[in-house]
Amino acid sequence: MTLTLLIPFALGWAGSLLVNYLSDVLPHTRRFSQPACPHCGAKIAWSDYALLRACRSCGVVRSLRTWITQITMSVSFVYFWIYTPKALGLPLSLITLTYFALIVVIDLEHRLILFPTSVFGAALGVIVGTHIYYSAKGLPFGAALGASLLGGAIGFGLMYLVYQLGALLAHYRARKMQAAGQADDGEEAFGGGDVYLGGVLGLMLGWQYILSGLLYGILLGGLASFVLLVAALIQRKYSNQLLMIFIPYGPYLIAGAFYMLFLG
Ligand SMILES: [Zn+2]
Repeated sequence: MTLTLLIPFALGWAGSLLVNYLSDVLPHTRRFSQPACPHCGAKIAWSDYALLRACRSCGVVRSLRTWITQITMSVSFVYFWIYTPKALGLPLSLITLTYFALIVVIDLEHRLILFPTSVFGAALGVIVGTHIYYSAKGLPFGAALGASLLGGAIGFGLMYLVYQLGALLAHYRARKMQAAGQADDGEEAFGGGDVYLGGVLGLMLGWQYILSGLLYGILLGGLASFVLLVAALIQRKYSNQLLMIFIPYGPYLIAGAFYMLFLG
């Protein structure tokens, strides 16, 4: 029993090596390039990289994020190996977990959801959604596929509306800043990537669950914004910056979908 748990731990370790690698190179080079040291820029040998060694040129050790991701994902793989979400099944659970981890890490570090990851997510989303409605809910294949696609359309459409609302707020804020004699900082709270993410999560959850999934994500995002707002008020840093914070971000949307798929 305990020995076999080494299997999911090793799978999780390998999966998070992939997440760390993609998070290190994709935002910078947009391709599967050889990893480089973020401190001195020297290329890192693949073997050193996979063994999480420090940079041979400047001695800087691997980032804290690298280690947090490795540990969190390996432990999560073990947990969901034991308590596998019934509707998802084991393989899809682990793949979806890896995909979620990648989106969250890149979004937290760069406030960016890369288009290629959304394309992969859409393919994964159709498979996950169709599987859930076909296997777990017993719909015929065509209807299951339809349920997934409809969910994708709803998720994409809703997030598109939120995006337009965000653009309106950003426009209003830019005008206020101009009126106050400040330069427009081009700050955009809600990126286009979040719209695609809404579509991906919709495909996964299907039309029956996408509304709850987004709602959980938005509530969580609102709660986090509220905490930030209170913190800012306590420190008397109130400004029109606060206009921007009641808007959900990728990691919160992922958290909502994660709850629905893995814990709900
Ligand atoms: Zn270095």
